Amino acid sequence: MFSQKKKLGIVGGGQLGKMLLTKTNQWDIYTKVLDPSENAPSRSSCTEFVQGSLQDFDTVYQFGQDCDYLTIEIENVNTEALQKLEDEGKIVHPRPGAIALIKDKGLQKQFYAKHNFPTSPFELFEDKADILKGWSSGKIKIPFVQKSRTDGYDGKGVHVVQSESDLETMMDVPSMVEEMVDIKEEISVIAARNSSGQVVSYQPTAMIVNHEANLLDVLLFPAAVDTYIEDKARKMAEELIEKMDICGLLAVEFFISKDDDLILNEVAPRPHNSGHQTIESCNTSQFEQHLRGVLNLPLGHTTVHLPSAMINLLGAPGHTGDVVYEGLNEVLAKEGVHIHIYGKKQTKPYRKMGHITVANSNLEQANKIALWVKEQVQIKSHQPISQ
Ligand code: ADP
Repeated sequence: MFSQKKKLGIVGGGQLGKMLLTKTNQWDIYTKVLDPSENAPSRSSCTEFVQGSLQDFDTVYQFGQDCDYLTIEIENVNTEALQKLEDEGKIVHPRPGAIALIKDKGLQKQFYAKHNFPTSPFELFEDKADILKGWSSGKIKIPFVQKSRTDGYDGKGVHVVQSESDLETMMDVPSMVEEMVDIKEEISVIAARNSSGQVVSYQPTAMIVNHEANLLDVLLFPAAVDTYIEDKARKMAEELIEKMDICGLLAVEFFISKDDDLILNEVAPRPHNSGHQTIESCNTSQFEQHLRGVLNLPLGHTTVHLPSAMINLLGAPGHTGDVVYEGLNEVLAKEGVHIHIYGKKQTKPYRKMGHITVANSNLEQANKIALWVKEQVQIKSHQPISQ
């Protein structure tokens, strides 16, 4: 692949693709990216760019025709087209069957149940009326969590039903409904695998969630969890990537319950928001690791050389339009602050526009600085709606 004409096709050209491309550029790998947006974050870093739908069979199939390897940076892609490309001899990782399984939260949960991975009890429903029927017949009990089977991300597509009044506002979509977990902590583990069968994993990341906005507040890496929990989570992530027969990455999200049980929440077969800090903290970043897995190269070491805290840079509420960043100069002056701007020209409330990693030999200090950084940086538009 290095300095060759062989092409790596990446379906999806968002920020995950952009960060993956820093490594393909370092290694002089020919890349071709597909994304519906003409201003996709990956566009400026790839060798070839194709604008088009990720869900349309013909577009994805055509896109892959002259690629040797194919990967994804988002699950919501046409897996039938990828399957046909694989059947015709292209190397596609993660395999299309695994993407299809993961992009449906119902199928994902059935997979965990079938293979005895610990996950919260669940039921599948056709729509809102079907859930209401299930509730009145006593099949499910309040409190519960309704999750849209497909198309959910960043808490969108998740509805917590804590009282009867919350039933009203449920989504009217095919749903997976699961028992509410009494969560003490949320962690994630990123595992990697190549087709030679080598498997590695990173130490867990603590995901501190803002429950009001249902968004990630800050990530702490490595998570300060018991060695017993860490070992169990890493082992489970490594078992899952093998059972799902995935090459590349598998990011695995867990809940740790108040009783210290480790409960599998969901997975993503690609670089993940909870692994961005591996760029600064580890010998091998998650992006490089994904590439190694997809291209069947030896996997890299996952040792943490510097702890870190990471925050997402989200568009400020009330601001939609051409983006302006405030406060970046102030935070840049601080040691250990690493800014990543994804290059989205337009901001919207809560849109992920970038992230900042604060690396520090003391994790508590990194956390403190990250929270300060969060106060300093504002992502606004030239003409806020509120004016
Ligand atoms: P998404 O794919 O949108 O990230 P998640 O399944 O990760 O959806 O859910 C988003 C958040 O909702 C989780 O991080 C967690 O805080 C909360 N949540 C999800 N499922 C449950 C559950 N069964 N019990 C309690 N809280 C939950």
